[in-house]
Amino acid sequence: MKKWNFYTSKEIKPEGWLRRQLTIQAEGLSGNLHKIWPDIRDSAWIGGEREGWERVPYWLDGFIPLAYLLENEEMIATVKKYIDAIVSAQDDDGWICPCPKEKRAKYDTWATQLICKTLKVYYDCSGDERIPEVIYKALKNYYELLKNGDITLFQWGKYRWFETFKSLNFIYEKYGEEWIKDLAKIIKSQGFDYNTAIEKWKKPSHVWKLNTHIVNMTMMLKSEAVSHELLGEEYTDNAEKLREILDKYNGTAFEGFTGDEVLSGIDPTRGTELCAVVEQMYSYEELFAHTGESKWVERLEMLGFNALPATLSEDMWTHQYVQMVNQIACQKTMIMAPFSTNGPYAHTFGLEPNFGCCTANFSQGWPKFALSAFMHRGDTIINSVMLPAVLRDNGVTIKLETNYPFDNKMHYYIDAEKDFNFVIRIPSFAENLKVNGEVSETKDIELAIKKGETEIELEFQATPFLKKRPNNLYALKMGSLLFSVPVAYEKKMREYIKKGVERKFPYCDYQLVPGTPWNYGYSNENFKVNYNVVGDIPFSQDKPPVTIKANMQQINWGLKFPYRTVCRKTPKSTQPISEVQEIELYPYGCSRLRMTEMPIIKK
Ligand SMILES: [Zn+2]
Repeated sequence: MKKWNFYTSKEIKPEGWLRRQLTIQAEGLSGNLHKIWPDIRDSAWIGGEREGWERVPYWLDGFIPLAYLLENEEMIATVKKYIDAIVSAQDDDGWICPCPKEKRAKYDTWATQLICKTLKVYYDCSGDERIPEVIYKALKNYYELLKNGDITLFQWGKYRWFETFKSLNFIYEKYGEEWIKDLAKIIKSQGFDYNTAIEKWKKPSHVWKLNTHIVNMTMMLKSEAVSHELLGEEYTDNAEKLREILDKYNGTAFEGFTGDEVLSGIDPTRGTELCAVVEQMYSYEELFAHTGESKWVERLEMLGFNALPATLSEDMWTHQYVQMVNQIACQKTMIMAPFSTNGPYAHTFGLEPNFGCCTANFSQGWPKFALSAFMHRGDTIINSVMLPAVLRDNGVTIKLETNYPFDNKMHYYIDAEKDFNFVIRIPSFAENLKVNGEVSETKDIELAIKKGETEIELEFQATPFLKKRPNNLYALKMGSLLFSVPVAYEKKMREYIKKGVERKFPYCDYQLVPGTPWNYGYSNENFKVNYNVVGDIPFSQDKPPVTIKANMQQINWGLKFPYRTVCRKTPKSTQPISEVQEIELYPYGCSRLRMTEMPIIKK
């Protein structure tokens, strides 16, 4: 295993389309949630009356790196206001959550695990010297309460135990005290062992359970990677075993899983929760850093370049609770929801459709992805994801100019005060790799960079192809992008107040009503790629940065009974009912209404 270390927002700064995407996020809901949403604005974490559990730490976990990546002073001041309130409210015994002493035994300490992780994120960004001791005291208190049986892990804390290890590893590295290892063992022993639930993942679930809960499924994949060292256990790549089973029975074209909100099978009209998308990305970032295995970054790219942008509105003010791979409408379903345990608005866009967890938690997706662009080990630096960014590390500056994944041209400008090794991770789908105009073997590039200025130009090709999916359907893929038939839509906006929470433009609810046909199949496998400019909105449905023209015919697909706005899982017939037409497919992430898994028309 070749372990890599993360950089922080002190070293990595976004550029190009990535900076525009993060700026959209800062100007959208993430950057304004504390002004408009009572559970953040008036949270018990800062002395208010509203939710004092997961929502503030969830939001800060993304808002903090977003603020520091963009060096946005106003946002950084807000970060400090929240952190100061949390730090100053810490009890003398170390307890850190907004819950009085007598209620601690019934307080789900998932919030303790989460706030310690978030404080570590804050420390990485800010270097605030108070933080190691704050985390130390919080975990020491957690240790004493758990060891003495004053509290136990239950509910979310039991199913998300491994989330404590980001902060546990940090304080073990800093203080090296034995109780930290003891705490690690107690947490694991009280935590849930997902290996015992595998059989439950093999068919769609209809009952809400923690051991088939989609967000837990995506979070737990990193559990062995983040915990085994402190526990003194061997690494076995258990994540791969668990992922394979989840993928076989619940996999989606974007390499996530269906879960609306428990595991939902291999039907492209079932939903995937937004929390699951960002948590799966975070798991894969940790898995790559831990193992150095490219497979985790390639899966990370599929989620980050497809599932994440698709489920957020272009202005990032609204989101869906669940997205569907074949999503012909985002309208309230009239009878019952087509989902297991989510309601009929779960796939509409809004401030908090169905439930408010994603409203706070989605903020971590883009910032942490940006922070995964470069990693390091000793005097070696790796460009792990080809995102446009600048790295400044100890006298070495590497600037990567690129529109990847929208095209496959990379230009590196390096200015170094010393020699170092530079690795460029080349995706497995890359063909005809050229480095500075010379044909090169298609594998990771390892370069010994000399002190001074160096430029590297790199280019490869990715061929569009139809990837086989279950149910005799196919998804068009090119590199790390999926392509979909985009369905034009009309937005129906709704402003209202419910339970004291205001929905008002631009954070109102939207339903998307389809206006163009969606019932297609592929006539052949001839594809024409068009590269456009990457616009102000990188994942725009009006101006997609890259499109693929395909020959397609309409078929009698049909609706899923008894719904009027959900298509069937598979088409009724694959006999063509139209002539061959040239259809322009858009990146999945640009198509808020779309058909992605489609059949090949019978000749
Ligand atoms: Zn959620």
